[in-house]
Amino acid sequence: MFDLTELNSYRVAATAAWCLFPRDLDALRAAMRPAPGQVVHLLGHGCNVILARSHYDASHRFVCTRELETGLDVAGGEVRAGAGARLRDLCRLAARAGLAGLERLWDIPGSVGGAAFMNAGAYGASFYDVVADVTVYEPATDTVRALSREACRPAYRRTVFQGTDAVILGARLRLPPGDPSAILAEMGRIGKLRRSRLPYDFPSAGSVFRRPEGAPPVGVIMEEAGLKGFRIGGAQISPRHAGIIVNAGGATGTDILAVVEVMKQAARERYGVELVLEQVVV
Ligand SMILES: Cc1cc2nc3c(=O)[nH]c(=O)nc-3n(C[C@H](O)[C@H](O)[C@H](O)COP(=O)(O)OP(=O)(O)OC[C@H]3O[C@@H](n4cnc5c(N)ncnc54)[C@H](O)[C@@H]3O)c2cc1C
Repeated sequence: MFDLTELNSYRVAATAAWCLFPRDLDALRAAMRPAPGQVVHLLGHGCNVILARSHYDASHRFVCTRELETGLDVAGGEVRAGAGARLRDLCRLAARAGLAGLERLWDIPGSVGGAAFMNAGAYGASFYDVVADVTVYEPATDTVRALSREACRPAYRRTVFQGTDAVILGARLRLPPGDPSAILAEMGRIGKLRRSRLPYDFPSAGSVFRRPEGAPPVGVIMEEAGLKGFRIGGAQISPRHAGIIVNAGGATGTDILAVVEVMKQAARERYGVELVLEQVVV
């Protein structure tokens, strides 16, 4: 039995009968061959997922890529980043090597694989701004191939990988040169900004929904609806940032999903918009 509590940033307590941590391609190949009737759930660092159940029986197989390809290599203006590496470590390494372009992604939790899958971003910048190509393993054909940035079809929190079973192995980034101290100073500014706005004091998975079109930001809608601080069980709309649900203590996936429904209803009633989850329900 595997404890998934440390594998999801909400820190929802959950267990799984199966959870594999492949370190190389051979182990990944084997991990991605589930038993008949088994569903595979890929996890990176678990910073953008809602675990809906408290237990996943043997019909579920978690494959966690946080130990897969964790290397980061710099050569000239190019960085090769393995899927399991931390996005934070990538940003720090690039800055120290005098490579710019990742400053606004500083302090986004999670792995390079997760960032490449989600097209993670903040303050107008996103991961694919600097991607040259992404290497994936495709279980259906048992092949590894590199996709150019364009072939990854990056858009706001979207990529071609969503809805497929491709496993991201790593990304190659092309970064312009910059002054390390200026890059680190900008990262410091972004870090402070994030810490002043986001609820780092309680476990969460960041923004719950994609930014809606034709309506104010989700946090503003929730504040207008008087839902700041609203709570079901252990899941609470953060009193600091109403676009984020936090685990205020003992939250279950059911609590979080119940708050999600209340938020959706509020947006529907006030602005006629259908909020779309950014977080991935497992
Ligand atoms: C406090 C906080 C603040 C945050 N702020 C931001 C922010 O500013 N901007 C932002 O964009 N996000 C933000 N997030 C969300 C999260 O950090 C990002 O979505 C991140 O990119 C998720 O990476 P992960 O490794 O944790 O992915 P997971 O949460 O583990 O997985 C997310 C999805 O990616 C898939 N996936 C993961 N790894 C792979 C792989 N190797 N191959 C194929 N698919 C894979 C999973 O199957 C899943 O569908 C925040 C989260 C927290 C907790």
